[in-house]
Amino acid sequence: MSTGQGKLVVISGPSGAGKTSVCRALKRRPDVEFSVSATTRQLRAGERDGVDYHFLTREDFQRRAAANQFLEWASYNGNLYGTPRWPMDQALARGRVFLLEIEVAGTRQLRERGVPGLYVFIAPPSLAELRCRLEKRGSNGAAEIDQRLRIAEAEMAAARELVAGAPLYDVTVTNRDLDATIREVERLIWP
Ligand code: 5GP
Repeated sequence: MSTGQGKLVVISGPSGAGKTSVCRALKRRPDVEFSVSATTRQLRAGERDGVDYHFLTREDFQRRAAANQFLEWASYNGNLYGTPRWPMDQALARGRVFLLEIEVAGTRQLRERGVPGLYVFIAPPSLAELRCRLEKRGSNGAAEIDQRLRIAEAEMAAARELVAGAPLYDVTVTNRDLDATIREVERLIWP
């Protein structure tokens, strides 16, 4: 896979750690393009098909995965999520920063294939703080919050893993203050 002159930036982190807010800030920059993932999960209030995600049936998703249309894909909390292949190739060939907001299993697939890029993990200050943020956000029920916290714990452990002797993520940024976190990620991308 050619990565042209552009730069792939992979951002992961538990649900509620702030990675979507970080990505939203980065997306405002003119030299940044971002991946619109495909997912089988239900559309949430305020989300738009084709903008936040491409919302697919499980059958359609699986057909596309079998046809190798995804750069990586993973199952998260019972739903499938995948990165369409061609937008990244195009963006990198044009010298752009290409942003992927994905979970850890997808990141592992990219690392195992040696896909070059900057891999950043956004961590919450603590699991207790994460629970507060998820409760405040109000878009998940109590059972789903518990489930997301269990996933978060596993993701934070996975983020410390080594893949082929190298860390899965180049950097972990702990999000105590959103503006400071955004500035730090910007410094990593544009040193
Ligand atoms: P949510 O349902 O909250 O939008 O996303 C759940 C998780 O799936 C988040 O950690 C998000 O970053 C991740 N995710 C979103 N799109 C993709 C994708 O294309 N591939 C992978 N591996 N994870 C994704």
